[in-house]
Amino acid sequence: MNDLRPGNGLPEIEFLPISCPKCGRTANSARDELDPCAAVRAEILCPDCVGGDFGATTYFDAAGRELPPSPDES
Ligand SMILES: [Zn+2]
Repeated sequence: MNDLRPGNGLPEIEFLPISCPKCGRTANSARDELDPCAAVRAEILCPDCVGGDFGATTYFDAAGRELPPSPDES
């Protein structure tokens, strides 16, 4: 039921919408191989909000659940 492997009804997304949870700035980022395949959007604190460096990425799936940053869990 919760099988979210590609090719199993999951839409193919080439770009991941990214937003900064602090200032609300948004951008589209090309999907990276390291991005969890179930992720449909991500939140990253932008450099302006963390003082020059990117914060940790938080991924969310289609159900709005937070995903672990590392896909190596199987
Ligand atoms: Zn920001």
